[in-house]
Amino acid sequence: MERNIKELVQRMTLEEKAGMCSGLDFWHLKGVERLDIPSIMVTDGPHGLRKQDSSADHLGLMASVPATCFPSAAGLASSWDTELARQVGVALGEECQAEDVAVLLGPGVNIKRSPLGGRNFEYFSEDPLLSTRMAAGHIKGVQSQGVGTSLKHFAVNNQEERRMSIDAVVDERTLREIYLASFEGAVKDAQPWTVMNSYNKVNGTYAGENEWLLTDILKDEWGHEGIVVSDWGAVNERADALAAGMELEMPASGGIGERKVIDAVENGELSLEKLDRAVERLLTLIFKAVDHKKENATYDKEEHHQLARKVSSESMVLLKNEEGILPLQREGSVALIGAFARKPRFQGGGSSHINPTQVDDIVDEMTRVAGEEVELSYAPGYRIEADDVDESLMADAIQTAQAADTAIVFVGLPDRYESEGYDRSHLRLPDNHIRLIEEVAKVQPRVIVVLSNGSPVEMPWLPKVQAVLEAYLGGQAVGGAIADLLYGEVNPSGKLAETFPAQLSHNPSYLNFPGEGDRVDYREGIFVGYRYYDTKQIDPLFPFGYGLSYTTFEYADLTVNRTELTDQDEVQVSVRVTNTGDRAGKEIVQLYIRDVESTVIRPAKELKAFAKIQLEPGESKVIGFTLDKRSFAYCNVDMKDWHVETGEFEIQVGSSSRDIHLHTRVTVESTATFIPTYTRNSTLGDIQRDPANKKLLEQALKQFQEASGFGGDDAGDHADMMDAMMKYMPLRALVAFSGGAMNEEDMNELLEKLNNKDHGIRA
Ligand code: BGC
Repeated sequence: MERNIKELVQRMTLEEKAGMCSGLDFWHLKGVERLDIPSIMVTDGPHGLRKQDSSADHLGLMASVPATCFPSAAGLASSWDTELARQVGVALGEECQAEDVAVLLGPGVNIKRSPLGGRNFEYFSEDPLLSTRMAAGHIKGVQSQGVGTSLKHFAVNNQEERRMSIDAVVDERTLREIYLASFEGAVKDAQPWTVMNSYNKVNGTYAGENEWLLTDILKDEWGHEGIVVSDWGAVNERADALAAGMELEMPASGGIGERKVIDAVENGELSLEKLDRAVERLLTLIFKAVDHKKENATYDKEEHHQLARKVSSESMVLLKNEEGILPLQREGSVALIGAFARKPRFQGGGSSHINPTQVDDIVDEMTRVAGEEVELSYAPGYRIEADDVDESLMADAIQTAQAADTAIVFVGLPDRYESEGYDRSHLRLPDNHIRLIEEVAKVQPRVIVVLSNGSPVEMPWLPKVQAVLEAYLGGQAVGGAIADLLYGEVNPSGKLAETFPAQLSHNPSYLNFPGEGDRVDYREGIFVGYRYYDTKQIDPLFPFGYGLSYTTFEYADLTVNRTELTDQDEVQVSVRVTNTGDRAGKEIVQLYIRDVESTVIRPAKELKAFAKIQLEPGESKVIGFTLDKRSFAYCNVDMKDWHVETGEFEIQVGSSSRDIHLHTRVTVESTATFIPTYTRNSTLGDIQRDPANKKLLEQALKQFQEASGFGGDDAGDHADMMDAMMKYMPLRALVAFSGGAMNEEDMNELLEKLNNKDHGIRA
């Protein structure tokens, strides 16, 4: 319906306008009855609906209406399937419509800086491209149903420790290439109706008061058209936040927020134009929700459960499979060991904690999928609520495992090990889980471990078991999904969206996580996840992008449509992938770029494209990727732009960050012109990078060489040393060492000429 929003804003009083910028209560925006502006509801997210009827909290403690619990983002991202993320979004959107929810608070797209991050289970990846693509799929799905999303938590929310006061200190290049990039693509490509700012400070300013983030980058540079909503309770000074670009404070602040806005307008600290613009955006959101509201909407619970099962099986990652122990044959006896088999861990704690419509019991689902020929037994082995070993449960488990042909051990992280609100302090499984694996492995030569956890764990027991399936937090249909994968009803196709380090201390943030007091320095810079492990040549336990299948794939015919291009051109890359095994399967083809030679520090490789494809046995497909300037660029902070340094780049295609099967090279030429300002302290090497400067320096260098005996043609054995000394010498040294042949005036004249050339250098 057409409405004149600007005119509506003009009809509002200052109190009404300021009022709209804070919530009505915990979950609702304010309306204005007199002007027929309704109140709409927002609610968590991201992988299911947490709609509270009467109670309200942002920690997931109190009851909410039943909703489908899909795998959390850590798992979903391991599917590398943006279309699947869209389908989950569609289902979530349908449930929102049925529950009269206008905006779902998610997805969360922060980068997994440390594997200890308490909310890592809610976030997609350590890589910004994978994160942003999965988020875009999710957003498009939800919004296709006329329901908004809230891309969160903007920005640099990578730890729970002191989450409301921590100051994340990050250099701009790292922000742009890693921490903001995970938001950027999703904002540009999918236009989330809202973006939620994080609790923390970014470089000294609360994210919610950071005009550079909320206005300059999000709204002006990326073109975000929606509103910024505070995380729950993330408002410091309401008027400053509004001026910075945060339109909505949530939840209601008992009138305090609006009072501050009114005062700030009245005393001239906040312009009425800014307030009007905020209200325009809020009204646009509200009416968008109203116009898209579907009356009497319902959804099919069973259908959504089946979708959750499919997504769950696509999200799990087969980490180890020796001697083809998997898939299981439908014969003999199998012992299911571990209390998670009866009480699965399928979701994380905190604001994303939802009340599922049903939960699959793993033992029941295994029994159903295995069929009548298989004899299944079960023993709990440990108590979920404790870490210490219960000797009688252990003894029973050992006996049960020994009596069967194969044992499957269900272990992982209990709820208390990871949640919103706090970070983990180590990567170990609980002691009783570790003991269980080890004891079972002593009596049973065929052991399969199924892990349920939201983030990486160390696996000192790995050599003792034959197979490991990383099930992540698989949502309410986790049981069926595990059974489908173990019995080969579904061929595993997930790949890790994060590195599993061999030990915690290998992680690049290890020395600076979670910081000191209220400050955390991101000293590892751009070297996050595989960018670090690969550049530093540290072997991880399992690398980024890794995952096994029951079939095999072969890569061939890597071609590019051009080998020379400028940074304004695109290059088409294609590769042929063949299923060389005897089962249908899916492969995630990954394309990484390496800058062969660079004057700036760059990672050994960076993911720039990926595709998930399905192949029948023997089938081949040619997959195409398009690379553009951004694929080769780094963020040049001085130029305030993405910049491709002229030179060779290697295009690597493989099945994980450590399994690169094919590579080829292209040369990219920069079209950017960089005009440096030279000073008396500029080095001769830097000045001479521009060939045009060489001529201008000629005379001065000659005088200098004659006077000092430095450099020149007869330097003999010392030529290399002389060259290096000259290269790193500042311009002013020519004056000091020229024995009076060159004076300060000559130098200033020279600088004048250098800085007034009518062209810059090809950067
Ligand atoms: C979380 C958000 C959540 C909000 C509302 C906060 O504690 O950080 O992710 O959307 O609560 O429950």
